[in-house]
Amino acid sequence: MDTCMAAVFVGPGKPLEVQEFPIPEVEPGAVLVRMEMAAVCGTDVHTWHDPTASSPVIFGHENVGAIAQLGRGVTHDVLGNQLREGDRILFRRGGCGLCTRCAVGESCQVNRGYGFLPSDQFPHIQGGFGQYLYLEPGPWILRVPDDMSTERALMSVVGNHTVLSGIEKIGGDLDG
Ligand SMILES: [Zn+2]
Ligand SMILES: [Zn+2]
Repeated sequence: MDTCMAAVFVGPGKPLEVQEFPIPEVEPGAVLVRMEMAAVCGTDVHTWHDPTASSPVIFGHENVGAIAQLGRGVTHDVLGNQLREGDRILFRRGGCGLCTRCAVGESCQVNRGYGFLPSDQFPHIQGGFGQYLYLEPGPWILRVPDDMSTERALMSVVGNHTVLSGIEKIGGDLDG
């Protein structure tokens, strides 16, 4: 069985620990991603300082990676672009489709995103601070255009989150 390495949050205030994980067989509908770049987010820092934070977790929820293996049936991204192995992608865990936040197109309140999931449970490699990340069946995928740098693609994710939550914090109207 192939394995890979990832940096694991093992508890508040402790250095991240590099651990080895099995790379799962890619199920139909799933995707194996070879990580290229992950951002360190303020959320990671808050969690690292939070005495109630649960661990172990592989951090990294703002990610760019390349498709290492496509599960059967995964052929296109959310815009209808064809996907091939080697393509760089942005991705998100699929929502439950049943909660009120899913209904209005926001982050699902049931399915936690990549970078927040326990690394001691299958399929283990579900954060960006590692060599590979396993997307469970039904992910949202956006192909990065060939002429866009990986840095720029990553900043489009990080920038959006951070700026939008900043605007929300100061009472700005996101719809206006
Ligand atoms: Zn973040
Ligand atoms: Zn949901």
